[in-house]
Amino acid sequence: MSTSMNIATGLSKIGMLLRASEWARADTSGLTPTQSQILVHLVSRGPARVTDVAEEIAVTQPTASDSVSALVRKGMIQKRSDPADARAVLLHPTPAGRRVAQDAAVWPDALLAAIDVLEPDEQAAFLKGLTKMIRTMQVRGAIPVQRLCVSCRHFQPNKHKGTDQPHHCAFVDAAFGDADLRLDCGDHEPAEDTDTSALWAAFASATPAE
Ligand code: SF4
Repeated sequence: MSTSMNIATGLSKIGMLLRASEWARADTSGLTPTQSQILVHLVSRGPARVTDVAEEIAVTQPTASDSVSALVRKGMIQKRSDPADARAVLLHPTPAGRRVAQDAAVWPDALLAAIDVLEPDEQAAFLKGLTKMIRTMQVRGAIPVQRLCVSCRHFQPNKHKGTDQPHHCAFVDAAFGDADLRLDCGDHEPAEDTDTSALWAAFASATPAE
């Protein structure tokens, strides 16, 4: 079996753990994994329209609408008019929904323990590899747009080349290494389309500290 196939097999094992954990949580919370995802999304990103939520969590709009209706019935979210457009509706998590979202956002202990087994340099290399994979899937349109450092206008890859913190975040004006690359940053602002290729080339050429 090729290395690519071995990696894909390994990732599917992790996916299996995550799915099992989501369904185990569904038993206790009474929410399906999609309903939990919607709640977590609304709590972490703020009120949103159902079309935007569907796009962000990569489900069809009918699926998102069904889940939203169930969440409204369960008292987890409320629909309110969008102040920017009276014809549109925004989904808001209720206090009960926020509590459930907090529990749903916790990663399985088994996964965290497995990550902790990796040495710090192994974690940094793994995160860099994941960043490359996620960016590639995003460019191919296989997953929704993510809030990655490598697509952020504040990211200055390889600015401090040859150090153990080669990258720079202009938002907080600080250097950081591969171990601190963000895959979902709340301060992310999309880089201009014309800048993304240059950003990527500079990131991909970054070398570890000598
Ligand atoms: S603002 Fe966030 S996503 Fe952007 S470079 Fe800084 S840490 Fe990365």
